[in-house]
Amino acid sequence: MKSILSIKNHSIRFWITALLIFSLLLTLCISIFVSYKLTYNTLINNTLESNQGYAEKVASTAEGFFVDVKKKLQVSAVGFPLKLGNDDQVQRRLDEILGSSNFFNSVVFVDVTGKIKNIAPKTLKLQGKPFNKTVFYQANLLKGPYVSDPFIGMTDRLIVMITVPIYDGNQFLGLLAGSIYLHENNALSSILETHFYRNESYLYVVDQKGSLIYHPQPKRLGEDVTKNEVVRKVLQGGRGAERVVNTVGADMLAGYAPVESSNWGIISQTPTELALMPAKDLVKNMMLYSGPFFLLLFALSSWIAKLIVKPLNQLSTFSERLCHGNHEKPLSKISTWYKEAKTLKNAMMIGVDSLRNQINHLSVEAYTDPLTKLSNRRALKMIIEDWIQNDIPFSMVLFDIDHFKQVNDIYGHVMGDKVLQYIANIMMDEVRKNDICFRYGGEEFLILLPQADKNLTSQIAERLRLKIATQSSPIGEPITVSIGISAYPEDAKSSTELLRLTDDAMYIAKKAGKNRTVIV
Ligand code: GH3
Ligand code: MG
Ligand code: MG
Repeated sequence: MKSILSIKNHSIRFWITALLIFSLLLTLCISIFVSYKLTYNTLINNTLESNQGYAEKVASTAEGFFVDVKKKLQVSAVGFPLKLGNDDQVQRRLDEILGSSNFFNSVVFVDVTGKIKNIAPKTLKLQGKPFNKTVFYQANLLKGPYVSDPFIGMTDRLIVMITVPIYDGNQFLGLLAGSIYLHENNALSSILETHFYRNESYLYVVDQKGSLIYHPQPKRLGEDVTKNEVVRKVLQGGRGAERVVNTVGADMLAGYAPVESSNWGIISQTPTELALMPAKDLVKNMMLYSGPFFLLLFALSSWIAKLIVKPLNQLSTFSERLCHGNHEKPLSKISTWYKEAKTLKNAMMIGVDSLRNQINHLSVEAYTDPLTKLSNRRALKMIIEDWIQNDIPFSMVLFDIDHFKQVNDIYGHVMGDKVLQYIANIMMDEVRKNDICFRYGGEEFLILLPQADKNLTSQIAERLRLKIATQSSPIGEPITVSIGISAYPEDAKSSTELLRLTDDAMYIAKKAGKNRTVIV
C-alpha cells in the first residue's frame, strides 16, 4: 500500500523522464537483440558453409591421393618380374616403387599362399611372415585395386594397405601391396594432418567403422564416434553441414564429406561458442559505444521532461498560492508553449476571473448598504484606517435627519425608506469625485473628503444642508439635517476619537436647534 502511494506521489516530471528512459532502453535492447540475432544467423550459416567447403576440399584431395596411389600400384604390377623367379629383381622393383614417391611407408609382394615374399625396406625383416588375412581375402575377392580398413600391423602401427593383384594371363601370382602408416610421415598424413587446424575450426577423419583415425588429440585416436549424427551420415555417403552435439557433449558446427575410395569420412568442425564470439563482441561493443549516446539522450530526455513540466509546475504553484490567498505572479505571465498547457492556463484564467468577480461581488455586498447603495459602516472603518495609515489628510461630515421618527410615524416606514434614499442621492450629487458617502446608522450619514480642509468641507456641507432644507422631499415638503464637521489629523489622531468628536459636534447642532452645522 505504501509503495503504491509513493508511486502515485511522484511528479509528472518523474513519469515523463521514466517513460523516455524506458523507451530509450527498450529501443537499445531491441536494436542490440536484432543485431545479435542477425549476426548470430550469419555466423552460424557462414561457419557451416565454410566447414562444408573445407571438408569437401580435403575429401577430394584425399580421394585424388587414393586414385593416384592405386594407379601407381597398377602400373607397377604390369610387368612385375615374377616369372624370372629372381628375388633380387623383385626386391629392386619394390625398392624402386617405395623410393619413387612418398606414397608408402613400405611395399610388399605377397605370394599366392598369403605370405610376405619380399618387402621394401628390407630392414623390416618380415619376409616369410603371413600377410594380414582379411586384407588378403578381401583383395582376392575384388580382383582389382583395393584399399583396406585401417588395422594394427605386425610392427604395431596403424596401417592402411593398398593392394593390386598380379596376374599372369588368368593365373593369380600374388599381391603387390603398399602400406601407409597412418601416423607417420607420408603423403596422406601431410594431406590430412597439415589441415587439422584452420582458424577456430579443426578437422578429423573416421574410418568406415566410425573410429577416429585422424584427430588433433592423439589420445582420441581409435575412439568409436558412431554416436555422432554427422559421423553416421558421412559413413552412409552423405555430405553437408549441420549443428551437432558431438560424442563428448560439445556443441559444434560441422561440415562433412566422404572419401569414397576408402569409405572414410572427413569432418571439419568449429565449436559453436567460438563461432559466435563475434556476435558476443558485437553486443559488448554496442553497449560500450551506445553508453555515451545513452547518457546524452538521458540528459536530453530529462531536459525535455523539464520543459514539458515547467508550465504545469507553474500552474500548480499558482493554484497552491491561490488557495492560500497569495497570487503575486499573475497567471498571464506563465508561459505555455504547448496546446494542453495553454488550454489549462486559459481554463484557469477563466476560473480565477470568475472567482475574482464573485469575491468582488461579495465584497461589494459586504461593504454596501442595500437600501441606499452607499458604503456602510464596515467600509468606513476600513477606509479611515487605510488613510490614517498612509497619512492621507481628510475631513469628515456627519449628519442626522431631524425629526425622522415623525416621518415614519406620519408617512409610514416605506416612505421613511424613500426619504433615506432621497438623501443618499442628494449626497452623491453634492460631493466631489473622490469623496465617499456612507450610511453611518439608521438615519445618520457620513462623508469622507480626502485632501479637503475644514473650510472647503464646511462649504460643501452647508451647500448640502441648504439643498435638503429647501428642496421638496418624498413627503412633499423639505426636511432638515444637523451636521458635525471634523478633520484629520488636526482634530484627532485615531478614527474612534475623530468619530466621537464629530458626533459631539453634531449633537451640539441638534441641541442648538437643529438644521445647522457645527465644526469641531
Ligand atoms: P432627532 O431630530 O433628535 O434626530 O429626532 P428623531 O426623530 O430623528 O429621533 P431618532 O434619531 O432617535 O430617531 C431615529 C428614527 O429613525 C427611529 C427609527 O424608527 C428610524 N429609522 C432608523 N432606521 C430606519 C430605516 O431604515 N427606515 C426607516 N423608515 N426608519 C428608520
Ligand atoms: Mg438618529
Ligand atoms: Mg434623527
